[in-house]
Amino acid sequence: MSVYLDNAATTKPCDEAVKAVTRCMKEIYGNPSSLHKKGIDAELAVTNARRSLASALCCDPMHLYFTSGATESNNLAIFSAAQALGRRKKKIITSSVEHPSVEEPLKSLEAQGFEVVRIAPRDGIFDAADFIDAADENTALVTVMMVNNETGAVLPVQRIFTAVKRRFPDTVTHCDCVQGFMKLPVRLTSLGADMVTVSAHKVYGPKGAGALYASGKTRIIPITLGGHQEKGIRSGTEAVPAIAGFGAAVKAHQTMLAPYYSIADENRAFLLRGLARLENVSVNSLSGEDSLPYIVNFSVRGVRSEIMLHFLEEREIYVSSGSACSKGAQSSVLRSFGISEQDADCALRVSMSRETTQQELRQLLLALGEGIRKLRR
Ligand code: PMP
Repeated sequence: MSVYLDNAATTKPCDEAVKAVTRCMKEIYGNPSSLHKKGIDAELAVTNARRSLASALCCDPMHLYFTSGATESNNLAIFSAAQALGRRKKKIITSSVEHPSVEEPLKSLEAQGFEVVRIAPRDGIFDAADFIDAADENTALVTVMMVNNETGAVLPVQRIFTAVKRRFPDTVTHCDCVQGFMKLPVRLTSLGADMVTVSAHKVYGPKGAGALYASGKTRIIPITLGGHQEKGIRSGTEAVPAIAGFGAAVKAHQTMLAPYYSIADENRAFLLRGLARLENVSVNSLSGEDSLPYIVNFSVRGVRSEIMLHFLEEREIYVSSGSACSKGAQSSVLRSFGISEQDADCALRVSMSRETTQQELRQLLLALGEGIRKLRR
């Protein structure tokens, strides 16, 4: 049996999502903009998905816009904030470990004259005060991820956003919740974020759907212009199957987050005990609640990431080297977390799902042990 441990890259769609997608492909294939019954049925599928997502996020469904995924949502949020406030305010505060779909738009804004302040962790841990102290009257946007995709580090987003909003109510706050959503409670009523990004394929839904939450106060400036779908925020015929699959995936498991978390916590403890018994392995992720238990990043000294990744792959065990998005490029994120260049070259990311078992982790540990004996220089 193969062992899939790359769930931070993407998850296997759950049965509920597959069923919803199939139903939309086969039966509810109308265009939600059409005025006849087929169109109305498709519109209803989108409405139901919006309701499910709103219930999981504790927000008004009116404030949710479906997109093609988190990359689009992050781009929309960041460029909107910059365009809305950029004439008066030129500062943006972020972390040094954001996903490229946040970091690249920020680089583009930097080239247009914005000042981007990137707050780095100290000894691997982010201090909310560093973000709060950096904010001032001139700050247009504070964008910080909830959970880092490479190490699982949990960032103090609620403390950052609520403090910034209290002092500077005009400053827009945005949170990339992709890796935290459906694992940690994400309550938009208390998060303090004006905008929030989530993605379907990280929560057992299909690829090609995501959402942006934008509170009524925040003006979203569309990137694509056209047929005015999603209240003009995101023109283009809605990806009804993917959106319905997203809604179904969220609805089916929304109430199970706490038990899933406990299992993940036990699995992590099991994995860490096993890793501690292996020679030349050092763990790069933080422990306890500073890190999401689903993600464990570690380095096998003397074996480059790709070499071990392919050794494991030959045994049908699938993990990631750093982040899947960086396709093997050295991770500046790991360096930012204080991991040495040597260790970053040898880093592997194991990301578990809610279905991962200790038997699977045992299989991984055995294969790692074998790999270390055979591959270490
Ligand atoms: N943000 C984070 C933290 C992610 O992990 C990812 C996916 N790797 C994204 C954004 C982009 O998500 P999507 O694939 O839905 O565009």
